[in-house]
Amino acid sequence: MHPVHFFMGAMTPDMGIDLGTVNTLIYVPGRGIVLFEPSVVAVRPGTNEVLLDGKAVGNIAKAMLGKAPSTICVTQPLKDGVIADFDLTEVMLRYFIRKVNKRKWGIRPRVLVAVPGGITAVEKRAVVSSLERCGAREVFLIGEPKAAAIGCGLPISEPTAQMVVDIGGGTTEMAVISLGDVFTQTSLRVAGDKMDEAIMKHMRAHFNLEIGHRTAEGVKIGIGSAFPINGEITAEVRGRDAIAGLPRSVTVSSEQIREALSGPLEQITDAVKTTLEQTSPELASDLLEHGMVLAGGGALLRGIDKLLQEETGIPVRITDDPLTAVARGTGVLLENLNLYKDVLRDEDTEE
Ligand code: ADP
Ligand code: MG
Repeated sequence: MHPVHFFMGAMTPDMGIDLGTVNTLIYVPGRGIVLFEPSVVAVRPGTNEVLLDGKAVGNIAKAMLGKAPSTICVTQPLKDGVIADFDLTEVMLRYFIRKVNKRKWGIRPRVLVAVPGGITAVEKRAVVSSLERCGAREVFLIGEPKAAAIGCGLPISEPTAQMVVDIGGGTTEMAVISLGDVFTQTSLRVAGDKMDEAIMKHMRAHFNLEIGHRTAEGVKIGIGSAFPINGEITAEVRGRDAIAGLPRSVTVSSEQIREALSGPLEQITDAVKTTLEQTSPELASDLLEHGMVLAGGGALLRGIDKLLQEETGIPVRITDDPLTAVARGTGVLLENLNLYKDVLRDEDTEE
């Protein structure tokens, strides 16, 4: 083998990107997940100038969330499942791609990006041109539910219905897939962030305690649940007294937090039921047998599988490592790009 060929092959710079509302992940074939950072950027207010010499992106920027003085603007450019700020999304992607693709001899990567199912055709085109400006040679888009289904190991090309529910930060994306195509899909703007907000509201209403987003997320991860758990637990929550204005802490139970989460959880459950109602009888019968798979960070909420199973009557399974399912799905696609190229091109031009 010619040494140059061997070298180029080993350095194949293709990458799969899970552009999530809360986390961005990058998968490089042969290397696996090489980047997993929060989708956050910190800039000087009114500019796209990234702080700390361009390094205040991802983990570094997330640490500043909710703690920044007015001279610093910490932004989540994909808030609520839509691309709220195109320019900052591009700034963030450029930083992440550079971080992963440090090679200087100019091999431009082919990039496969999984985008939230709810984004519009205009937003899709904007993502493609952003990535091209970031140096991508070719850009393919794939809907998040399909990438999630592949990452969960579902045999999506078979004539058997598969259902995936990806509960992220900004959106819950769900789809019924059969023969490689999406039969029906829903993108609901209720997911992890809305759960955090529900906890904030609950703490204020029931304990007169004001807490920040990150504290609320910590409570959710620490003691949150969707279904009664064996041996309910408690947590100490610190915030600011809504009346006196001074720092104060209270002890809350997992039952109380479950109560707080009931609103968003009901919305997610209703959307899953509606999606199921839209499937044909044949597909419904497949789903009754094979059930649905949960992915995304929200799949880690205690008892969410039990809740959905009880509400829908079909078996529910949580995929291994739900936070990385979409990125791993893009990896499987990239590693088999010849098989999937046409499918990806269709998605790319889809309106
Ligand atoms: P996105 O695809 O929108 O970027 P992710 O799939 O990365 O979202 O999931 C992020 C969401 O998952 C956040 O709202 C986070 O709070 C939530 N999350 C992460 N771990 C847990 C956990 N153990 N329990 C409940 N929610 C979790
Ligand atoms: Mg996601």
